[in-house]
Amino acid sequence: MENAWNKYNKKQKQQVFDFAEGYRQFISDCKTERECVKKGVEIAEKHGFKDLQDFIDKKKALKPGDKVYFVNKSKDLALFIIGKQALENGMNILGAHIDSPRIDLKQHPLYEDHDIALADTHYYGGIKAYQWVTLPLALHGVVCKKDGSIVDIVIGEDMKDPVVGISDLLIHLAAQQMQKKANEVIEGEDLNITIGSMPLEKEEKDAVKANILKLLKDKYNIEEDDFVSAEIEVVPAGPARDYGLDSSMIMGYGHDDRVCAYTSLMALMEIENPEKTVSCMLVDKEEVGSIGSTGMQSYFYENLVAELIELTGGYDYLKFRRCLANSKMLSSDVSAAYDPNYPAVNEMKNTCFFGGGIVMNKYVGSRGKSGSNDANPEFIAEIRKVWDDAKVSWQTAEIGKVNQGGGGTIAYIMAKYNMQVIDSGVGVQNMHAPWEVASKVDIYEAKNAYVTFCEKMK
Ligand code: MN
Ligand code: MN
Repeated sequence: MENAWNKYNKKQKQQVFDFAEGYRQFISDCKTERECVKKGVEIAEKHGFKDLQDFIDKKKALKPGDKVYFVNKSKDLALFIIGKQALENGMNILGAHIDSPRIDLKQHPLYEDHDIALADTHYYGGIKAYQWVTLPLALHGVVCKKDGSIVDIVIGEDMKDPVVGISDLLIHLAAQQMQKKANEVIEGEDLNITIGSMPLEKEEKDAVKANILKLLKDKYNIEEDDFVSAEIEVVPAGPARDYGLDSSMIMGYGHDDRVCAYTSLMALMEIENPEKTVSCMLVDKEEVGSIGSTGMQSYFYENLVAELIELTGGYDYLKFRRCLANSKMLSSDVSAAYDPNYPAVNEMKNTCFFGGGIVMNKYVGSRGKSGSNDANPEFIAEIRKVWDDAKVSWQTAEIGKVNQGGGGTIAYIMAKYNMQVIDSGVGVQNMHAPWEVASKVDIYEAKNAYVTFCEKMK
């Protein structure tokens, strides 16, 4: 493998670091899908993107060069730059997900046990529960009240804020626990968040919990019942950090898949007047099967394409179907980067490495490629050409040895429109752990790969 760092001189390396710093700040600030959408809109508007809803409402025509975005239910963000060619010829699409594994509060979360107040949770996505104990955790989310107002909650990020956490048994009393299998050491139902220990004055029953409720009432004007219509996500507290003595990597929460989401988004920010219409979609619910109205299986994106056809010359069913079928897509998600501590899970010829650049996965899936979008080699050849011509560093990989495990992405969902789709993305270590690790140069290569894909794919 040619290490991508070797391509760059001192000045260019600084560009890699500068881009990575923007990303480090993004994942430090954006730890939920909603926060990613909000920040994404802010970035897009700064780069001249306008709300597509406004064009739809006013029946304003879209012309080549126009930049628009659309927010679906606060949890998906789709962006388009209208190309010179007709939409019927298809789009070049970048897709990534902005939900990450985490721990969600239940609808009735609060209780008290011997003067300790706790919050009950149900974890989201695939986690090793034992990794999430004895860490400073923060609460991010929304509480939707009956009067229609929405209260944004972020507790634990400001250094003056308190954090919360999940306790673990002391080693001195862990003789039995240490005999358990790793998936039983911490049971899912035992991921309870400690939130308080000080009783409310003059309160007799559950005084500690009552005190917490009073704090929430005073600061956010919310009641215990309001948790029924809330989404509070418990995530690692604190910012992402430079990792390694050479600061060549970033350790942060939610690289999966915000590292592909941010790079896809920023790629679109660099593009002006593309030949074909280019698009970026940042979607929710990938970690739990892409279901629901905000997952990739929702028709929201398809509906948007119909709106675009309408606004670029009038809706036509055939043109709409052709637009989807003629599109090309990079379905971007993180890959399992080689980890010297665990070499046994990899087959070394088909493994990705830090410094190797963006990763292409012809297929993912498990047990005989099951459930995978197996990308067409004609399509892969076209991408190779485009990336090589632009001197983008890229590599290919499978997720581990045959029958070692596997995973799924959003690729197969878009492929059903008969568009060309391939999985690609950035290699990470510690995937799905509270603190994941990615290489800065791979992040930079991914962004460049996305720009090139959007501009150059025929
Ligand atoms: Mn992912
Ligand atoms: Mn994942």
